[in-house]
Amino acid sequence: MKNVLVINCGSSSLKYQLINMENEEALAKGLFERIAIPGSKLTHEPIGREKFKIEKDVKNHTEAIALVLEALTDKDHGVIKDASEIYAIGHRVVQGGVKYPESVVITDEVKKEIEKFSDLAPLHNPANLMGIEAVEKAMPGVPNVAAFDTSFGISMPEKAYKYAIPNEYYENYHIRRYGFHGTSHMYVAQEAIKFAGLDKDTARVIVCHLGNGASISASIGGKCVDSSMGLTPLEGLIMGTRSGDIDPAIVQYICNKENKSVDEVLDILNKKSGVLGMSGGVSSDFRDIENAEADGNNLAKVALEAFRYRIIKYVGAYVAVMGGVDALCFTAGVGENDKITRQIVGNALGFLGAKVDDEVNNVRGKRTMISTPDSKVKIMLMPTNEELAIARDTYRLTKK
Ligand code: ADP
Repeated sequence: MKNVLVINCGSSSLKYQLINMENEEALAKGLFERIAIPGSKLTHEPIGREKFKIEKDVKNHTEAIALVLEALTDKDHGVIKDASEIYAIGHRVVQGGVKYPESVVITDEVKKEIEKFSDLAPLHNPANLMGIEAVEKAMPGVPNVAAFDTSFGISMPEKAYKYAIPNEYYENYHIRRYGFHGTSHMYVAQEAIKFAGLDKDTARVIVCHLGNGASISASIGGKCVDSSMGLTPLEGLIMGTRSGDIDPAIVQYICNKENKSVDEVLDILNKKSGVLGMSGGVSSDFRDIENAEADGNNLAKVALEAFRYRIIKYVGAYVAVMGGVDALCFTAGVGENDKITRQIVGNALGFLGAKVDDEVNNVRGKRTMISTPDSKVKIMLMPTNEELAIARDTYRLTKK
């Protein structure tokens, strides 16, 4: 009975996965949508069997968790007999500040810290905390663990995480680069080292996590040395709706030209920019952008080119700071599905002797070495599994 329940709680949603840690296989997963909004819906999927839906309004996350437990133990659709078969719960928490370079067993003090870091992640941390408190009520006595999106990035050296702004802002407000998607970067880097048979202490790995949100990290021996996301997930790569790197003076310029507030412009940079904005509003979904390009839409074509160009720039920078690279990994929605992005970015390292094998690269969502046998850099598609990474930490920290 070594089942770990992994929970990723948003303000009105709750994603979960139950994983058997004896074989690291998922037993069930699901999504609760519209919590505390009329039309609440739970979609539960016992792995290998049909999904089923429960449509029942819930007032809060505690009621949602109770329904998730009912689904997990349901006599027809369930995967366990009762909730006592859940060993521990792992929670994804977005911001853990410098305080938490690793996952941690949740105590009252940890909850206070998560609350304290809410001003750095106002959309996420309060929701994550709501999930933790709901589970504590629904399953008293079962240990809870927090796995932070920021933990992996905390090990960056000072020269990489500090911004060139007056130091008092760092001292007073902890303004630094944190690097998000940390659980994914850590998992993919570790798995890549094993998959490619690299030295676990010295392997230089670059992970391109390319989803709707996109980020890129460099690590040596599994330890992060740099990461493209900053104080918030807005910095770095061009994303579905986020601009990534821009000249900060653009904010003031748009404010003045359009009579907008800083908050309004930041909202545009977060929600209306990226490939959505560059394509003139086609879509934030890369499949739609690729289809528009195929139909001759020039803005979509340039958006895709710019997206890939920015990735290549970061890869080049990270190769330089690490003095080379042993493995280049692609993960998340675009990284796992879009062979053209993998081919263009991988072959951009041709000057180092890297080469993508086009035939093998014709693959989706499957752990695959996509470089040619003689490539000097191991290039791979490595599906991410944040839930498993959280479950591993949860199990390790709570195992008796
Ligand atoms: P997130 O977790 O950040 O929401 P995902 O990792 O689920 O993102 O990635 C979602 C994105 O993956 C979608 O926006 C879509 O653009 C992209 N994607 C999925 N399939 C393909 C594909 N076949 N080709 C290109 N992009 C794809």
